[in-house]
Amino acid sequence: MKILLDPGHGGRDPGAVGVPVAVGGDGIAAASGLQEKDVTLQVARLAAASLREHGYTVLLTRDADVDVPLHARTGLALAEQVDAMVSIHANAGGGSGCEVWYQAGDDASRAFASALEKGIADQDLVPSRGLKAGSAATRTNWYTFSDLAHDALLELAFLDHEQDALQLAQHPERFAQGIVAGVCAYLPLQAAVHAQCAAEKQQIVAQRDDMLAAMYGELMSDRTDLAYAIRIANGARDPGDLGGMTRAARLRLLNETWAGKI
Ligand SMILES: [Zn+2]
Repeated sequence: MKILLDPGHGGRDPGAVGVPVAVGGDGIAAASGLQEKDVTLQVARLAAASLREHGYTVLLTRDADVDVPLHARTGLALAEQVDAMVSIHANAGGGSGCEVWYQAGDDASRAFASALEKGIADQDLVPSRGLKAGSAATRTNWYTFSDLAHDALLELAFLDHEQDALQLAQHPERFAQGIVAGVCAYLPLQAAVHAQCAAEKQQIVAQRDDMLAAMYGELMSDRTDLAYAIRIANGARDPGDLGGMTRAARLRLLNETWAGKI
């Protein structure tokens, strides 16, 4: 499962610039106001790291403060045949809260957007402004929708709203977790992971059986000191004797003795 995260803006294009916020610790330093390009990159990086831990393959349209044209962003999605693309932005212009845009007329895009909206709303950081239908005609300045089945665009919060800006600066990792929750809910890896576990388990059992077969073979041969010792310990008077048991009974006993220990 391949996910493309698209941190909006970058390089000469700062995107929206917000109100100054004072933040310590790991938050984003923004004494002169948060810049959208910094917020989007940080949230994208955090979401990418977490999604990778979940087992997703994650690509970024940029992983530095550089210009990337919109057509290159959607072009990457098509070239890499990603399963989903999430464009990350932050708002300005009066208002508060998170809104999630989907491609007008695309049901898959709308459903994916809805999962992302819920993921972020569950983090309880900013009010949810719900879903919005986008088209090339409505928002040409950031329009990054492609012909992919799953794409959505987030406006995480308003940089020029004091409380929103503070949340973005202090909790970028929680916004990222909201994105991760949305992706995991809509494009779960669960089924693939279970199939992988079953295959691994089967492989381990087969390896164990091979080891047991090898041990039996060794024990039942007259070649090793260990085999002699075990036979003597089991009551055989001489190494060639199976202790009064048939070969089949001895194999059963060995199986019971060893199977639980491997
Ligand atoms: Zn933007």
